[in-house]
Amino acid sequence: MFEQELETGQHAVTEAMRITRTIQDELAGNNAITKADKSPVTIADFAAQAVVCRILNNYFPDTPIVAEERSHALQKPEHREILDKILHYIDKDSRVKEILNKDNLFQSIDLGGGEPNNGVFWTLDPVDGTKGFLRGQQFAIALALIVEGEVQLGILGCPNLSIPHHQSTQGYLLFAIKGQGTRLVNAESGETQTVRVSNITDPPKMRFVESYESSHSNLDKQLQIARMLKMEQEPVRMDSQVKYGVVATGNAEIYLRIPNPKTPDYREKIWDHAAGSLVVEEAGGVVTDISGKKLDFNTGKTLKNNRGIFASVPVVHNLIIEILEEMA
Ligand code: AMP
Ligand code: MG
Repeated sequence: MFEQELETGQHAVTEAMRITRTIQDELAGNNAITKADKSPVTIADFAAQAVVCRILNNYFPDTPIVAEERSHALQKPEHREILDKILHYIDKDSRVKEILNKDNLFQSIDLGGGEPNNGVFWTLDPVDGTKGFLRGQQFAIALALIVEGEVQLGILGCPNLSIPHHQSTQGYLLFAIKGQGTRLVNAESGETQTVRVSNITDPPKMRFVESYESSHSNLDKQLQIARMLKMEQEPVRMDSQVKYGVVATGNAEIYLRIPNPKTPDYREKIWDHAAGSLVVEEAGGVVTDISGKKLDFNTGKTLKNNRGIFASVPVVHNLIIEILEEMA
């Protein structure tokens, strides 16, 4: 099941990885618009969303796409310079140029304006970790297919991920179909292999990943937990769902995202966790919120029934949930 969705989704994410990497490599000057919630959206977010939505819509015209961005800001005359840059990068990429142009750009972005339902829909974060993208660091293109509230397919493009003892100048793509394991694709060679979470069982030897942005979680509490477990290495901070990719490939054992006390009402967005959570689960990891509850993708665009995120190898999951309960 979902082979056609995987093939199309993998193709779409691969195209988006290439164009976003090109933009990131050449980034200079004014490339971002600040949205109403003060978060940035860049030329890469718009280009990636347009590419992915256009390809998905060609093959699955009836499946709604719930994506993060909208074209309205881009349509304002004051953002003409940003629009021109997007058109420049579309024109430079011979493959993207075949499907996108100035006449269908806004419409392609807004194909992502679908709403979640209790049947089938896609959810897309075209550039997850926009702040990391702007810093020249980690970001991900995250695409998932949700069917009756369950993530059935997750595809995570990680253009800057590097994996020990591997080589790819183009990063990696991870994908998972529920029940079928997680596969890692070298984006440069196309070589594909099954991956599993780490088999380290001794907490002090475990590696911990968390958000780079200090406002996105509670770094103090997270450090306290790392200390309680006597972890020898400090938590490693990185942007985006690449953290799930690092856990799925066995290069970290714990990803913790305790809500930041300054934003107690923040609710996680479905496109920030759908693809990543399946990629970790199918690699043998456990993903819940910080009280141990399964992520509930049946509550619209946000995870209304969950607080925070906790992904880890199975051996420490219960132990850390107990610690989190004691700390709460
Ligand atoms: P990360 O790089 O893992 O921190 O994830 C980036 C994502 O964090 C962005 O896509 C935002 O949707 C999300 N985000 C923004 N504000 C917050 C917040 N206060 N708490 C948790 N996540 C947030
Ligand atoms: Mg995001």
